[in-house]
Amino acid sequence: MSFDFLTPIECSMPVHKYLSHYSPELQQQVKTLIDENRLAESLLSRYPSTHDIGNDQSLRDYVFELKNDYMKKSSPLSKVVYDNRIHVINNALGLHSYVPRVQGNKVKTKNEIRISSVFKKAPEPFLKMIAVHELAHLKEKSHDKAFYRLCTHMLPEYHQLEFDVRLYLVQLDLNGEIY
Ligand SMILES: [Zn+2]
Repeated sequence: MSFDFLTPIECSMPVHKYLSHYSPELQQQVKTLIDENRLAESLLSRYPSTHDIGNDQSLRDYVFELKNDYMKKSSPLSKVVYDNRIHVINNALGLHSYVPRVQGNKVKTKNEIRISSVFKKAPEPFLKMIAVHELAHLKEKSHDKAFYRLCTHMLPEYHQLEFDVRLYLVQLDLNGEIY
């Protein structure tokens, strides 16, 4: 029996049905933005530029800095990478996995964070949102109140950003890149 397997944590970031968890009123507002062809404009006016964290090394530095600021004592992180497959294969924007390894009579886990390549060319606040989401999973495995409390502790505007990231995904699906 092998203990060297990946156990992906379920993530609240499904690729489809981006906005299904939001109120009908909010969904209607988005529909209006789309109908009036103003979605890109709305995103660009609030998020005019992209970050320059373009490779795995700089992503790793970025996520470790966040971890050091807010979650220094949580389980160690062994790997942080961009992943261009999880969007399609796992239907996820980010993935936190832990790999249990048996060492003698102890089980040690290795934590890995994978961030969809969608965030490689995106506004910095969007990258921060997904990084904070996956970091919070080091401590809170499920998407419960404690989990979101930790997210908003690290990033007070977390909920607005998660919504705007979903808007951005709708934009990408409907009309393609804007940056
Ligand atoms: Zn999650």
